[in-house]
Amino acid sequence: MARSRSVAGAAVVTALFGALLAPALSVPSPAAAAGLHLDHAGASPASTAPVAAAAGDSGGGGYWLAATDGAVFAFGDAPDEGSAAGDALRAPVVGMAPTPDDRGYWLAGADGGVFAFGDAGFAGSMGGRHLVRPVVAMAADDATGGYWLVAADGGVFAFGAPWFGSTGGVHLDAPVVGMAPTPDDRGYWLVAADGGVFAFGDAGFAGSMGGRPLVRPVVTMAADDATGGYWLVAADGGVFGFGAPWFGSTGGDVLGRAVVGAVPGAADGGYRLVGADGAVYAFGDATDLGSVTVAPLAGLTVVLDPGHDGGNGADPGFIDRPIDGGGFTESCDTVGTTTPGGYPEHAFTWAVALDARAALQALGATVALTRQSDTGVGPCVNQRAEVADVLGAAAAVSIHADGGPPGGTGFAIDEPAPVVSSISDNRAIVGPSAELGAALRAAFAAATGEPPSDYTGTAGIVVRRDLGGLDLSTVPKVLIECANMRNTHDAALTQSAAWQGLAGRGIAGGVAAYLEAALRT
Ligand code: ZN
Repeated sequence: MARSRSVAGAAVVTALFGALLAPALSVPSPAAAAGLHLDHAGASPASTAPVAAAAGDSGGGGYWLAATDGAVFAFGDAPDEGSAAGDALRAPVVGMAPTPDDRGYWLAGADGGVFAFGDAGFAGSMGGRHLVRPVVAMAADDATGGYWLVAADGGVFAFGAPWFGSTGGVHLDAPVVGMAPTPDDRGYWLVAADGGVFAFGDAGFAGSMGGRPLVRPVVTMAADDATGGYWLVAADGGVFGFGAPWFGSTGGDVLGRAVVGAVPGAADGGYRLVGADGAVYAFGDATDLGSVTVAPLAGLTVVLDPGHDGGNGADPGFIDRPIDGGGFTESCDTVGTTTPGGYPEHAFTWAVALDARAALQALGATVALTRQSDTGVGPCVNQRAEVADVLGAAAAVSIHADGGPPGGTGFAIDEPAPVVSSISDNRAIVGPSAELGAALRAAFAAATGEPPSDYTGTAGIVVRRDLGGLDLSTVPKVLIECANMRNTHDAALTQSAAWQGLAGRGIAGGVAAYLEAALRT
């Protein structure tokens, strides 16, 4: 893990700082290190959303990749018949299936919505109807021209296609994640994340991984029409063939993001695995006809919390009121510090947050700020923590500058200690927050040249249990004191727009390095 983490950090930090860190890039890419064949003809369109599904044409000479935002990317013989990119989807796309003649396809959303393109007919959907669990995959019925949707509980919804049974209502040890029809479409298999296989109609049971240890969960399956068997595919690209030949896998390799799809090649003499990062891994006689370049942080939300606010000093009645910080009482917020000349911390944190936001957005992240201007009051620190929880953020950073002893310089990163209270339990985020802190320390130091604090913490890290903003967080979170505003040297830095930009990019680089490492499979 340490090696893959440093590779991830190098890729993103170098994107941000160019030649500054170029030597770090002398390591081979994970794909090259793994000896994978990525030598396709060249087409590599960009996507701002992660790839979520893949489908192959009937001849095996082409395939489509679909992203969560409804974008469709066609390769080889597979025709581009349109996409839902640019539409405001109610739920992410999770499944895709082609029509019998490959002149169209359907997309399925997690809410059961179905979108038809080309010669695909709309035969109904679960959109707008109550679902016990989200839809996770779909399959086409070539015999009828209809299709099936399958939900995480194994519920199967048939539209213009016969229903052969489901596991809806049956207790499952793990959620259903994939579906494949039999060669004559008179049955189908469902597969669960633990590798369990459920056969319906004329589908034969040829084996499963149920009850056997898996390094990573199964994420999809594909039928081998040549043999009547099937392949199960895990998030790390591990492939398990049952009544179907094994042509290879990426199991044991380090992938940029998890595998999400599998597409058989011509005559089922091979298969292609597709990653959420748009990578295509071809095995057997299946060929790599092109891949998608997914933005590094696509699909992830980051919360940036610029400390304090411009109006706090004028409203002590609001910011001094007590709140529960997670088993102890603290004030809603504070005014923050200033430089000896009077430049306020809230203005510094606001400027740095805007720079960090721009850098993270350039990497494809969705970024939310806990305040929308530098002239308001609050919000309270507990509300700042709640923003990241509500948005399901992948990481959060509170941005501050310290009011330390005048003789002290440097930056410090506050990380949460485990704290359990009547209103909170942050134990699950302590470890990930430490990883975030380590990545942030490295990237911030590289970007700004600022040393770790010489008056607090150990090598720039301070573990604390007295900050509600950390105790109440449900997502990986740290607080950075970028510099000591009471120190003459540091004070000059914090007032420099150029240094603010470096600080913002350093924070973004640390967050990105942490998230890319977390995405690796
Ligand atoms: Zn502060």
